[in-house]
Amino acid sequence: MSNQCRHVDLHHDSPEIQRTICALKEIDFELAYLAVLTLEGLKPLSRWEKTLSEGDLELLRQMNLLTGQVRRTVKTGKDVVETIFSRTPAYIQLYEQTFDNTPIDKSPQTQRFESFLFGYPACCVNNYIREPYAPNNLTEQEQKILFHWACRDCKITHLLLPAYTRIYDLLNRC
Ligand SMILES: [Zn+2]
Repeated sequence: MSNQCRHVDLHHDSPEIQRTICALKEIDFELAYLAVLTLEGLKPLSRWEKTLSEGDLELLRQMNLLTGQVRRTVKTGKDVVETIFSRTPAYIQLYEQTFDNTPIDKSPQTQRFESFLFGYPACCVNNYIREPYAPNNLTEQEQKILFHWACRDCKITHLLLPAYTRIYDLLNRC
């Protein structure tokens, strides 16, 4: 096990998984962060929009995550490949069935469905749809470690924050 990762103390703390987390972090901190949030079950499914090699995908699988890739089209007509990962086959299937070979869209309906898959509180998403980036009471640092924009005085985000913070801090120390 690499010395740099000795202090990571996750529930899934086998040496292999810790090595894999380090390797993912070398690719991109956010990718490693998403992978651990998903592994820990805080996010049912995560999506990665940048290019990943077969070796990168293998690292995700070594973390006991299932992976999938879907092809989407953007307004310019270009194709993009999205990578999704989850512990649960049904979430991968739901995403693939709904979005494979479809144009990327930001409709409220899509945003609500994605939020369900990504583990975002429904109150925050509905608030974001009504008023994107409406002021909330989080500190800049608290908002920064989340992937959803919290609604004001959000009760659910308040419960999620300690778990997100713990994983974020552990990754920063590894
Ligand atoms: Zn909320």
